[in-house]
Amino acid sequence: MISLKGIHKSYVNGKNRLHVLKGIDLEVESGEFISIMGSSGSGKSTLLNIVGILDNYDEGEFRLGGEVIRNMSERKAAWYRNHMIGFVFQSFNLISYKNAMENVAMPLYYQKVGRRKRNLRAMEYLDMMGLREWAHHLPNELSGGQKQRLAIARSLISNPKVILADEPTGALDSKTSLEMMDLFKNINNTGITILIVTHERDIAAETQRIIRLRDGVIDSIVKNGERKKWLSEQVMA
Ligand code: ADP
Ligand code: MG
Repeated sequence: MISLKGIHKSYVNGKNRLHVLKGIDLEVESGEFISIMGSSGSGKSTLLNIVGILDNYDEGEFRLGGEVIRNMSERKAAWYRNHMIGFVFQSFNLISYKNAMENVAMPLYYQKVGRRKRNLRAMEYLDMMGLREWAHHLPNELSGGQKQRLAIARSLISNPKVILADEPTGALDSKTSLEMMDLFKNINNTGITILIVTHERDIAAETQRIIRLRDGVIDSIVKNGERKKWLSEQVMA
């Protein structure tokens, strides 16, 4: 589903050049649930933004669903984002003056779906997230957990193949965070590939593979079952 080979990315600021990703190799199968960890500044968001076609890369090859994604026109990139990818962010990125239903329906607006049809679809997704009664409320009338469920509903409404979530539980308490992970697991069980950036171990522990970034390279890739087995062997020894 996602193939990254030798990906390099630098940010240039005047005379300064910051080499952020220094050769990333990663294959993600369709239907996988993967977490990306690493300290602040290690390049996690940069990597996610490349996979989400929000940003370009300098070197290497990135394929999404078999197609090489490189220096795309904004029009084509937008098409891919609208049809393949759902985004979830730490800060929710909801539109403050639109109600819950309109926020969820927004991706369909960009797909030029008519208002009646997109609001009907939005209500289905709100229902799925237990937010039907909140359809006509503004985001600031919702709790953090409700806002994130709203953002997840919005990410799902266009039937994406991949969900990219950048620290989606970063602004939530631990109980709500784990509820959010259950939600992501249910979504993953429907076959949607999920990449989630987190710096919380117990969040990463809920995913199938943990990718650890350090200074722009992959430091380790650990399959969760194996890690648990390894840990229990250490305890036994
Ligand atoms: P992480 O998400 O792991 O905290 P980021 O990928 O956001 O890290 O950032 C990696 C490095 O790249 C940081 O040093 C950050 O300041 C820098 N950086 C990120 N985005 C930009 C940008 N648009 N322009 C310049 N530097 C950036
Ligand atoms: Mg980040």
